[in-house]
Amino acid sequence: MTNERAGVVNKDVVVVGAGFGGLYAIHKLRSQGLSVQAFETGDDVGGTWYWNRYPGARCDVESMEYSYSFSPELEREWVWSERYAPQPEILRYLQHVAERFDLRRDIAFETRVTAVHYEDATGLWRVRTDRGDEVLARFCVMATGCLSAGSAPNIPGLADFTGTLYQTHQWPKEQVDVTGLRVGVVGTGSSGIQVIPMLAQQAAQLTVFQRTPNFSVPALNRPLGADERQSFIDRYPELRNTWRHGLTGLGCGDPPPVSALEVDAAERTANFQKFWNKGGPCVGFTYNDLIVNKAANDTLSEFIRERIRDTVKDPAVAEKLLPRFPVATKRMCVDTNYYATYNKPNVELIDIKQTPIERITATGVQVGGREVPLDVLVLATGFDAVTGAVLRMDIRGRNGLRLADKWQEGPKMYLGLMTHGFPNLFTITGAGSPSIVSSMIISIEQHVEYIADLLAYMARRGLTHVEAEQQAEEQWAQHVTDVADGTLYPGTASLYVGANIPGKPRVMLPYLGGVGPYRQKCDEIAAADYVGFALSA
Ligand code: NAP
Repeated sequence: MTNERAGVVNKDVVVVGAGFGGLYAIHKLRSQGLSVQAFETGDDVGGTWYWNRYPGARCDVESMEYSYSFSPELEREWVWSERYAPQPEILRYLQHVAERFDLRRDIAFETRVTAVHYEDATGLWRVRTDRGDEVLARFCVMATGCLSAGSAPNIPGLADFTGTLYQTHQWPKEQVDVTGLRVGVVGTGSSGIQVIPMLAQQAAQLTVFQRTPNFSVPALNRPLGADERQSFIDRYPELRNTWRHGLTGLGCGDPPPVSALEVDAAERTANFQKFWNKGGPCVGFTYNDLIVNKAANDTLSEFIRERIRDTVKDPAVAEKLLPRFPVATKRMCVDTNYYATYNKPNVELIDIKQTPIERITATGVQVGGREVPLDVLVLATGFDAVTGAVLRMDIRGRNGLRLADKWQEGPKMYLGLMTHGFPNLFTITGAGSPSIVSSMIISIEQHVEYIADLLAYMARRGLTHVEAEQQAEEQWAQHVTDVADGTLYPGTASLYVGANIPGKPRVMLPYLGGVGPYRQKCDEIAAADYVGFALSA
């Protein structure tokens, strides 16, 4: 396809996206003898790690965990240099994977899939792109990412700004130097919290426009020693197995069967401090009721607020930085010097919930009756998570049903893999699967392998079509809601429930039951001849 763009091409599978999910899908499905055509908007592989090139971009999952497990050779040969890998290194890793498994030959780059239409007469999907490609395929795999559709903040006057505007999720490839410039940042989620300390090192003046303060834990990033790396590699089979069957898939492991309220305050604080001193998010896994019991959660929330008060010298600034929602009901941010950045004389924090942005002008931001003059404005305002990228394509299933219409009240999917009315169309880490509350690579590999196994099962039996049954999908969606209702998550306005996108239906997007239990459920369904999936020839 890359070189021949005329006429309709027939393939077994179209894969949309060439990030972690798409690359593995191409490799896995091809190894089963299927012909694959992949499309990717970027001019290279990498997905989220291609686009999010902002200074400080770094994974919040440790590098020895955040890598593919499907190839022991790959595991052995790739050398991660730091505890938390920086974006350029993860991108190089994915480029290496693409080379090593010869994946590029089936990827059409700089090509956006615009329409994906099911044809009732032939039972095939007709996939069209913005470059005029047309592919007929029996199967489609949406590997479009959970955090890839950037949200466009509706801030009055944004279009009037004549300085330089950057968005963290579409950062330019060239080096951006803000030395001596006046820089503003809107957004204090994981992206903002990573980029702010980096920009503060260069900018003459950095102004942070914060709507909601977030909880962040120090990464305590450091170089990875050869011995440490080898020790992981030697234990990979055992470690990966533990991660796959745990709750989040993270190396933190599952919380012990102890309530935060069972232990006295001094012991609890010492325990939190012990994990805090190790860096990373494992402090959130210290007790088993932190995300289900508000009183238990308050203990950790307050512990972190205390660390913020300890770090930020000006008590008024510290007060503005204190998050007020239950910790871990939004993804905990992992930072390097975030709170300490507010001690720098060139950094100002403006609480825009208290003093809303009036408008953006040609030369800055009008707020609280004054103008903050800016040369550069950085938007770190997040994503239309989980469903955004899928819904931006014109996807139509049986009888011309538009996915956007079907999901008007929120997405309904069976296991986050398929949605009724859209046969043979799969989603990697879709709504109703652990996705963004899990370690993504574990969830991606599980989905790709599940789809590959299902297609092999169908091929063995001469079956050509698979579709989620409506009842199975309804029951799963109810289960996703029920599990969420047993936690503190639904009470927080987060991207997990679509609250960050105006008008998005409030539905719990990820499955909170854990990657281990989820995998077990998927495996039981497969063992029961894929009950809940209608299979036909
Ligand atoms: P995010 O967590 O949704 O944060 C967006 C920020 O922008 C929030 O502070 C939000 O405020 C603010 N915002 C949005 N619209 C605004 C508006 N109109 N006016 C003012 N402020 C506005 O997005 P993100 O930081 O890109 O992170 C998203 C997810 O990506 C994370 O949860 C994580 O899973 C992933 N991520 C991971 C890493 C990593 O691995 N280290 C790095 C970056 C991202 P409100 O909270 O008030 O809405």
